[in-house]
Amino acid sequence: MFKDDCIFCKIIKGEIPSTKVYEDEDILAFKDINPVAPVHVLVIPKEHIKDTNEIVEENIKYIDHIFKNIGKIAKAAGVYESGYRLICNCGEDAGQQVKHLHFHIIGGKVLGPKVL
Ligand code: 5GP
Ligand code: ZN
Repeated sequence: MFKDDCIFCKIIKGEIPSTKVYEDEDILAFKDINPVAPVHVLVIPKEHIKDTNEIVEENIKYIDHIFKNIGKIAKAAGVYESGYRLICNCGEDAGQQVKHLHFHIIGGKVLGPKVL
């Protein structure tokens, strides 16, 4: 379920402190330590899933749960009305640093150019 050397698993277990925005039994949302915008929140499943390539039938409930609650988390982060960008990096070319699946909620200002 958890991976010993994973920093996000450690955050879930409370071994590394974080500023929580939303939490329930399946997911956790917390502030990014190095924000790129006034609002920068990370949403993670409470099970170690490496990246989007590792999403399978057995763990899809976490992804389902994240998206069912994304509006609620955006509200808690203060960007529900103003809007936000949702980003998920997978692998080398995308520059994924932490190998525990996470979605960035970025907002709190008018964001710059889009990649896509
Ligand atoms: P990635 O590049 O993998 O999509 O994003 C990883 C994100 O995790 C980065 O934005 C980085 O600032 C954030 N991060 C890395 N370590 C920690 C940590 O220990 N605590 C928090 N709150 N964020 C972290
Ligand atoms: Zn992990």
